[in-house]
Amino acid sequence: MTVLLLAETHQGRLATDAVARTLSALAPLGEVHVLVAAGDGAEAAREAASLKGVAKVLLAEGESLRHGLAEPAAALVASLASEYRHIAAPATAFARNILPRVAALLNVMVLSDVIAVHGADSFDRPVYAGNAVQTVESTDPVVVLTVRTSVFGAVGRQEPAPVETVAAVADPGLSVWIEDAAVVSERPELASARIVVSGGRGVGSKENFDAIIRLADKMGAAVGASRAAVDLGYAPNDWQVGQTGKVVAPDLYLAVGISGAIQHLAGMKDSKVIVAINKDEDAPIFKVADYALVGDLFSIVPELMGKL
Ligand code: FAD
Repeated sequence: MTVLLLAETHQGRLATDAVARTLSALAPLGEVHVLVAAGDGAEAAREAASLKGVAKVLLAEGESLRHGLAEPAAALVASLASEYRHIAAPATAFARNILPRVAALLNVMVLSDVIAVHGADSFDRPVYAGNAVQTVESTDPVVVLTVRTSVFGAVGRQEPAPVETVAAVADPGLSVWIEDAAVVSERPELASARIVVSGGRGVGSKENFDAIIRLADKMGAAVGASRAAVDLGYAPNDWQVGQTGKVVAPDLYLAVGISGAIQHLAGMKDSKVIVAINKDEDAPIFKVADYALVGDLFSIVPELMGKL
């Protein structure tokens, strides 16, 4: 059995952490070939070849693959599918855009957010906003799956595997790239940060949210937010943690003025250590918190800053 792993790349660089974590999830499934599909992918292919567990890297380069458009990437993956028993990718926005299209082209289902691999056809995935775990037995001839990377550790390095060039398929011409509007930040990336400091409605205003950002910067952390904080304009959309935001599992998650609604917990309850600051001692966040600081965030956060 061989697995095809679609690698995520950004401007020709490999999203190494996401790919390395996906590789560890796929290890029980057999030999893994990594597909790098990019405008200029040689460097990403070299990076992928050195990750442990990679038997071969397939490098497809072409203009239509330069900006991560889903349709040309899906057509490429589907054209290679007959050689593979599994087609996988990290469950990031990149692959969530592509793999359902691959599954549709192959007329199979897509198993999203896999958190455990029991065998070639048996997988666990969360349902009901993470409140239950579903074990799925696939009967499809090709299993298409995305992997929740925060659950798995990253594989190490190896002597580089061979890199083989494959031809990009013709662009189906269903979409056109116009521009990327990427946010450039010095802070760690939210989904893979070791520490996340998140603020909620309790923070009270966009101006007050600056204190959350300063605390995060002091701790070398990424900044997160509840949906209420995002909806109220305290924080940008891409900082949202939860069922409809990012799923994180950092070593330390600090929740400030967040009640702990199930939709928020779905995005952070697998964090290794959870610290919550809330003035309501009955706030649901305290049910998952390892450390509960009951009190006013406007006195606790400055005190914490002072101590740090
Ligand atoms: P609140 O629930 O209003 O909590 C604010 C907390 O701050 C309270 O516990 C309060 O005691 C505390 N507080 C207030 N003032 C202070 C103070 N001075 N000091 C200390 N504590 C204070 N939510 C998400 O976060 N992520 C999602 O992805 C998400 N997806 C959703 C999807 C769906 C389909 C639906 C229906 C909802 C979703 N939600 C999501 C919304 C979710 O249900 C909650 O409404 C939201 O998480 C609440 O955000 P909050 O905790 O910041 O606000």
